[in-house]
Amino acid sequence: MPVKIYHDDDADVNIVRSKTVAFIGYGNQGRAQALNLRDSGVNNIVIGNIDDDYAKQAREDGFDPVSIEEAVRQGNILMLLIPDEDQQTVWNEKIRQNIKSSTTLVVASGYNVAFNLLDLPDDMDVVMVAPRMIGAGVRDRYVQNIPYPCFVSVEKDASGTALATCLSIACAIGATRGNGAVGSSCREEAGIDLFAEQALWPEIMAIFREGYN
Ligand code: NDP
Repeated sequence: MPVKIYHDDDADVNIVRSKTVAFIGYGNQGRAQALNLRDSGVNNIVIGNIDDDYAKQAREDGFDPVSIEEAVRQGNILMLLIPDEDQQTVWNEKIRQNIKSSTTLVVASGYNVAFNLLDLPDDMDVVMVAPRMIGAGVRDRYVQNIPYPCFVSVEKDASGTALATCLSIACAIGATRGNGAVGSSCREEAGIDLFAEQALWPEIMAIFREGYN
């Protein structure tokens, strides 16, 4: 099957500009993506984080952070940008009961969706916008107008418009520039990451160790 590549021309950035985008987490990816969205003209951004150094950083960047629960209550789009291993617990304790109707969940990693670890409302769209790049790279490349690799996918299309929302977000963070964003799936992205982390890199390290010994 040919791989589908999406470019800026495929996306309408006005879709995300018309929404309230709630960030769950303001770390590596959260900060970079929030700043990129704001610079792309997305005015309604709410940061959800406990009141710690991440919230302090958000305030220094000109945002007004609130609790995760409050951010979820406000958002039409939820950017789930906390570590994969914490997502299921935070989802069950702080997110699930506060989700508005007809929202879109955006993940930057396929793991929790691929393995069905999140209890998703029936009317929720679920998409993946997964930069293959650390947050600092996502931000620096956006500012310098340099493309970077990114996987995108639609995992659940309750509204019938999930792809358009997905591409609008990808475009607004700078991921559809240049060579474009690569159509993939949460299952494929999670499989690639698990293979690299659990098989490939341990083998490479073992070869180095063996060579040294
Ligand atoms: P970070 O470790 O940088 O996330 C830190 C943020 O998560 C902070 O806002 C922190 O807030 C919050 N957080 C951490 N633990 C909890 C918790 N238990 N409850 C609530 N909030 C919590 O994560 P990344 O940005 O690296 O990763 C986010 C997503 O992006 C993941 O899905 C990851 O796989 C994906 N991704 C990461 C890439 C990378 O290079 N790192 C690349 C591409 C995708 P606080 O501690 O204050 O609660």
